[in-house]
Amino acid sequence: MIIKPKVRGFVCVTAHPAGCAAHVQEQIDYVKSKGAIADGPKTALILGASTGYGLASRITAAFGSGARTLGVFFERPPEDGRLATAGWYNSVAFHRAAKQAGLYARSINGDAFSDAIKQQAIEAIKADLGPIDLIVYSLASPRRTHPKTGTVHKSVLKPIGQSYTNKTVDTDKGVVSEITIEPATDEEITDTVAVMGGEDWEMWIEALDDAGLVAPGATTVAYDYIGPEVTWPVYHHGTIGRAKNSLRESAKRLDARLKINGYGRAFISVNKALVTQASSAIPVVPLYIAILYKIMKEKGVHEGTIEQIQRLFATQLYNGGSIDFDSEGRARIDDLEMRTDVQKAVKEIWPQVTTENIATLTDIAGYQTEFLKLFGFGLPGIDYDAAQEPNLPLDA
Ligand code: NAD
Repeated sequence: MIIKPKVRGFVCVTAHPAGCAAHVQEQIDYVKSKGAIADGPKTALILGASTGYGLASRITAAFGSGARTLGVFFERPPEDGRLATAGWYNSVAFHRAAKQAGLYARSINGDAFSDAIKQQAIEAIKADLGPIDLIVYSLASPRRTHPKTGTVHKSVLKPIGQSYTNKTVDTDKGVVSEITIEPATDEEITDTVAVMGGEDWEMWIEALDDAGLVAPGATTVAYDYIGPEVTWPVYHHGTIGRAKNSLRESAKRLDARLKINGYGRAFISVNKALVTQASSAIPVVPLYIAILYKIMKEKGVHEGTIEQIQRLFATQLYNGGSIDFDSEGRARIDDLEMRTDVQKAVKEIWPQVTTENIATLTDIAGYQTEFLKLFGFGLPGIDYDAAQEPNLPLDA
């Protein structure tokens, strides 16, 4: 099968197996080029391990510290000649590279919010790994079926209290327009917190801890975003921001739980805004990212997911480093994004951007390139006219 990109709004409905493998390899090569991360995890459980920040965390743990990894994700496998999702092909590539490097890798594809998948993970950990040193919580999902009530909660990306009008960009077409988003209802706020808040993270750690599978000195981390004021109505102060508040509260409770038990730490890391499948679905944010990329590349401080996570592990979590907590107890690797000079430059460009000048005032081209790379397109060295075998099992 010859596979080409088919972009529909903010998703690409096709994925290229060889391209995804090249994308994973780029990230592995980057981590290896930075050298070993001393005192890193020996065993790691990554929730949301197939794309974005979770995949970068799995790669860093495995190829930076030699960790044996169990990845959990929710991807569509290939079926009846239908392509799998990019996260599936990324994981096929990760398994292959780990095997070549002599590193244990196992993955569970299913709903991490469910009791059944938690149980499967616990069985796998008991059988193969023993207590876990690092648990990364990097799920981004539009919905969650609550394991106790059966209620299906759907998350929304909306402001709270009042409507919000700002510029946004159709990243596929490069068309800038104005968007007004109506405020969320109370039910939508509660639902978004149920999906993207910390309850499920706490359920994971409780289940692992009760099974005696949290190793002494273990770390658990979940990822957060704050960003600049221009996006606050739809992010930091919006429904997703409420969910992130809940995640922060969970971090405090988990940290206390792990410390009372005499081992471990739990915290939040605030990461940089980057093109991922999750962030491309948020209104307004992609335009901000396109401007941010332009500024950060010009200043020579641009990073992708792998650079962010490698830096977090190598300078703060392990390697003799210590976490540079902010006043609210969060690790910050959004420091370069939030630098005063970077934000000042973004603020100057924001009001000027139109469809006509977006190509010069922003890095929309870089955004589009990164977006296609998420699905395995545009990677150097790949012959996109060559037929691909789409039917790849995880351990191909
Ligand atoms: P992503 O879309 O790239 O990855 C989401 C992962 O979650 C995938 O592995 C997917 O398979 C998995 N997943 C989704 N639903 C699942 C389910 N029900 N069961 C099991 N797995 C499931 O997202 P991302 O951007 O890497 O986001 C990860 C975290 O990082 C989120 O908490 C996000 O808020 C945070 N973050 C993202 C950014 C950004 O700009 N992208 C910035 C800072 C923080």
